[in-house]
Amino acid sequence: MTKTVRVYEVGGPEVMRIEDIEVPPPARGEVLVRNHAIGVNFIDTYFRSGAYLVPSLPFTPGNEGAGEIIGLGAGVKNFKLGDRVAYAATLGAYARERLIDANWLVKLPKGISFETAAAMMLKGLTAQFLLRRTFRVKAGDTILVHAAAGGVGLILCQWAKALGASVIGTVGSPEKATLAKKAGAKHTILYREEDFAARVKEMTKGKLCDVVYDSVGKMTFPASLDCIRPLGMFVSFGSASGPIEAFNLGLLLAKGSLFATRPSLSTYSAKRADLEKMARDLFRVVTSGAVKIPLHRTVPLADVVDAHRALEGRETTGATVLIP
Ligand code: NDP
Repeated sequence: MTKTVRVYEVGGPEVMRIEDIEVPPPARGEVLVRNHAIGVNFIDTYFRSGAYLVPSLPFTPGNEGAGEIIGLGAGVKNFKLGDRVAYAATLGAYARERLIDANWLVKLPKGISFETAAAMMLKGLTAQFLLRRTFRVKAGDTILVHAAAGGVGLILCQWAKALGASVIGTVGSPEKATLAKKAGAKHTILYREEDFAARVKEMTKGKLCDVVYDSVGKMTFPASLDCIRPLGMFVSFGSASGPIEAFNLGLLLAKGSLFATRPSLSTYSAKRADLEKMARDLFRVVTSGAVKIPLHRTVPLADVVDAHRALEGRETTGATVLIP
């Protein structure tokens, strides 16, 4: 029997219940992982609330965790019992023990703790593909990061600065502005009070940004497009305030022949070789110290309902990790 969070009907944070369930032995290609730390992500709230469709009910939320292998299914190569591993894929992470396809696992380098790994796999791999593949940020670029003091946001700020970019970060409070600046943002904007597009124009002396990384969605659209230079890129990678509604593609023409994309980690990490390459890149920037993983809150798995309330209530900064 293992402690597992189960959701029988989608809804508010209170629909998550903790139960003791029996975990079957790993099937072919699967391993049983004893999670030592579990990452909380905004995407978990989309599945729990029904904004994203779940394959079936009841289900166990969570897509990010780190722990050790305690069971091996037939045909699993490259992993053995006792290996320290981490993952950023497939529902089912909110549990003390879970089954997972071995293809989603990466081995954890010695210098990275389970807590740090659970705070960085999904968020850090997301930052990796956004900065290195969706739009390849280079020295001298100016970039806008919305929700810059969040889990993904603080990693984006540090990594982009290490690449030589100038980062402008939007944040919901002065305390969050201080954190974003500490993480490398050159300027911050309190976007709940200020006209952020006008401020970006001012800060860049009219040159605007090469790319906007927007995880906020409804609240920041279409003003985000006014922050981008002609032929620049709009990257809509999340919708914390709700999804962007349908718009006429002619808007991209009117704003300066912009490129726009809606990327997801699952597409970018679908091929095993890509996942390994992305993880190596992430481990490199973390072990070199260029990116410090912002693990700001560690809570027992039993407090998962509060953890979701805080995340959706915009009370958190950096990453929250659950300890099962
Ligand atoms: P965050 O820690 O960034 O939390 C979300 C933040 O969004 C809040 O702290 C808040 O910051 C801001 N926000 C703005 N409007 C709202 C609102 N109405 N309700 C709640 N929050 C709001 O979360 P994560 O780091 O886990 O994820 C960041 C984003 O990245 C999410 O949108 C997520 O879906 C997306 N994502 C996308 C991936 C992909 O593959 N495409 C993968 C991983 C994450 P503030 O107070 O400063 O406004």
